[in-house]
Amino acid sequence: MRIILAGPRGFCAGVNMAIEALESAIRAHGTPLYVYHEIVHNKWVVDWFRKQGVVFIDDLAKVPEGEHLLYSAHGVPPEVRRQATARHLRTIDATCPLVTKVHREAIQFAQQGFTIILIGHAGHDEVVGTMGEAPRAIRLIQTVADAEQVEVPDPAKVAYLTQTTLSVDDAAKIIEQLRRRFPKIVGTAKNDICYATQNRQETVRLLAPEADMVLVVGSQNSSNSRRLAELARTCGVQAHLIDGPNDIDLTWFSGKETVVFTAGASAPESLVQECVGLLRERFNASVETRMIREEKMRFALPEL
Ligand code: SF4
Repeated sequence: MRIILAGPRGFCAGVNMAIEALESAIRAHGTPLYVYHEIVHNKWVVDWFRKQGVVFIDDLAKVPEGEHLLYSAHGVPPEVRRQATARHLRTIDATCPLVTKVHREAIQFAQQGFTIILIGHAGHDEVVGTMGEAPRAIRLIQTVADAEQVEVPDPAKVAYLTQTTLSVDDAAKIIEQLRRRFPKIVGTAKNDICYATQNRQETVRLLAPEADMVLVVGSQNSSNSRRLAELARTCGVQAHLIDGPNDIDLTWFSGKETVVFTAGASAPESLVQECVGLLRERFNASVETRMIREEKMRFALPEL
């Protein structure tokens, strides 16, 4: 068996920043330390912090007044910030700057009187946060069919935004349909899908033709990880989204010669290495790395 390790894979700059911020906050303030929603969408990472005394909450009423509260990489709606201020919580903002950028765009478009069509997944933390910035101006759509049907008060005054972790191909089709319906629609040059999501999808697109199977390390609730597995299947290759080595079924590999490994932006490299180690041990697999693009992006830590 031959394993191709796709690069770049795994942690993006936003996830690195959020995890380092939480580690620093634990060192500075001790535990219990509260985090609004999962720090990043990865089961292993969340469990690891939980063991250290971090409490993940969905309701600010569960945080005692005056305690430290960290906002996850996916961002929060302004209403959550207001509630935190009202409860005198000491907040640490680990929102990814690329998510904050989408929030700012939503505010600006709304102030200019645009109806904003947000392309994203209903209920995703990031989408909830962005919608909260301009709830009356935003219409959420998820599919090309939605783009065909969405109603706006003034078709000449429409803007679009996207969630940062969408499928590049699906988003392009939806935007194309929006442009057909609203020729004057405005948006950022391409979309708001972040560099890390785009790079990881590009590696799968380039390497899938060589693979008998693509394994994506990532959690089921990780949007960008799910998109990687879907993309591999769209390329005609069997793909599995796995949290780690315990999810691997050895019967999958019967007759498989080349396995491409990638990882979503919230999946730790240690889990990839554990999976690779298992296949090396069981199938005497060789391993090569294929780096499609270097990533040098870094984000500064928030104030603690
Ligand atoms: S996937 Fe993109 S938007 Fe999300 S945290 Fe990482 S860099 Fe930021």
